[in-house]
Order: sequence, then structure tokens, then C-alpha cells
Amino acid sequence: MRYLFSNRAAIMVSVLFISSTALTTITVSAGVGGSNEKREVHQQASSAVSTSFNEHAEVNKQRKKVEYPAKKGRDYYEPRGDIVWEVPDAGKRIALTFDDGPDPRHTPAILNLLKQYEAKATFFVIGRRVKPYADIVRRAVHEGHEVGNHSFSHIYLRRGMSAEQMRADIKKAHESIQDVIGQKPKLFRPPGGYYNESLVKIVRDSGYRMVLWSWHQDTKDWRSPGVQAIVNKVVNNARDGDIVLLHDLVEGRTDTVEALKEILPTLKKRGYRFVTVSELLSHRSKAKAIRPN
Ligand SMILES: [Zn+2]
Repeated sequence: MRYLFSNRAAIMVSVLFISSTALTTITVSAGVGGSNEKREVHQQASSAVSTSFNEHAEVNKQRKKVEYPAKKGRDYYEPRGDIVWEVPDAGKRIALTFDDGPDPRHTPAILNLLKQYEAKATFFVIGRRVKPYADIVRRAVHEGHEVGNHSFSHIYLRRGMSAEQMRADIKKAHESIQDVIGQKPKLFRPPGGYYNESLVKIVRDSGYRMVLWSWHQDTKDWRSPGVQAIVNKVVNNARDGDIVLLHDLVEGRTDTVEALKEILPTLKKRGYRFVTVSELLSHRSKAKAIRPN
């Protein structure tokens, strides 16, 4: 997800909201012009791939409207090991993460590039896309990548949903992934980056670790900001142990694949290795590894 506070200004604004009301709805602009046209074109294109569902329009609708409730934040959850944003003591390693797939157009292209540059990555998949695109998910695992749980239907797990509904959604996605890859996923990324105490507990009790992303590595690639914008964001901000937020499912034109063609060789030349999130976590200093991986 891409709306969680990625800078201090946003945090300040949120504090103001929190002080005046328990729950504030913020509408985020669609980002690029002509989105309706893009959606229509894409819906036509994707109907050949799947007639039973089309995540793109639905996911994008969710991306535009995010609720920011009053809640415990990073200062509380990070030291406890409940949520991971990055692993700064992991040495020259970076974890690329791709959300919302698998996608039959972009995921294979991304896998090809990762292979070319001997990079490993983590794919946070939407549970209900896993079986229709099982071959892509299996290929990712076969090539050494990690598959994480990103909910079953990309619904925001938030206030208004009971704990049982949240638990059921995560479990449904878990089972879809396990059926296809024959392993239990260990990482969970909440849709929209939204979390609250109830969700943190459910995720932990389900045997998962919740993973978000480095705030300085939110590429916003889902709204096709241009190849160079994505490249600059990642390359100019790269630090040891970063977790980079990217998307393999992007409505309409994707800039992500082209951006990777520059990001991968550039950071590799600087001595970075691209690893899965679980590998990144395994390099935390023992003192900080409050919970076992
Ligand atoms: Zn997502």
C-alpha cells in the first residue's frame, strides 16, 4: 500500500485529525489523468484472461479512499517486533516487494528481470488471484522468491470488520497459497498498509509476521508516475536493509518493469544484494530480534 504516512508532514496532519476525531476519512486523488479511460481499456484487455473477477478496478477504488484511525503506531509496534518496516542492521541487502499480484502481464516480466540480475524478491499476493495464476506463483517460488499473504480479496482489514472476518480472510488466503506452493507463507502485508491492534494480534496468532515497507521507499508505482520517478525514489534513497514497495499488478500502463531495468543493475553495482524479506530478517542483530523469525 501506498497511503500510509510516508513523511513527517502527513504524520503531523494525522495527529491533528486524531485529536479532533477518532476516525477520519481522507480521499486520495487518483494520481493520473484519464484513469476512467485506462480502466475501461484495461477491463477489456483483462477479460480475456479472467472472466470471473477483475481486481484492477476494485483495488484502485480502495486505493483512493483510506481511513486513518487513532492508533498505536510504529514507535509502539516496531520495538516489539510485531511489525517490520525495514531492517537497518542487515548490511548491504535490500528487499524488493511486489504487491497485489500475481498478474499475468507483469509478474512474468518481473521474474525474468530478477533472474537476469540474480535478485530475490517477495511477492505479497492477493489470495483469490493465486489459483487462477498458480503457475506464476509456483515459478516465483521455484526461482527462489518468497510469497507473502496480502489478504484474500484485498479488502481493508479495519474497523467495521469483526476479528472473525479478518481472521477468516487471512486464513482463506493462507490456504490458497499453501495449496499452490506447498509451503506455509510466513509474512503478511495488510491491504492499504492499514493495521490496528486487533489485526496485529490476529496476524501474530496466525503465525505470521506483519511486514510494511521503508517510508522512504514508497514508490507509488501503482499510479504510473513515470519510470524515472520510480528509479529516483529507490536509487537515491537506498539504504542498508530497506524494504521497497512496488506492485506487479498496476492498472493500465506499468512503469515498474522498466524502472527495474535501471534499479537492479545500479544498486547491484553499488554492492547491494537483493534478498527476500525473510532473508533480510535473518540478518537482524540478535539483540533486536525480539521474536524469532
Ligand atoms: Zn495491495
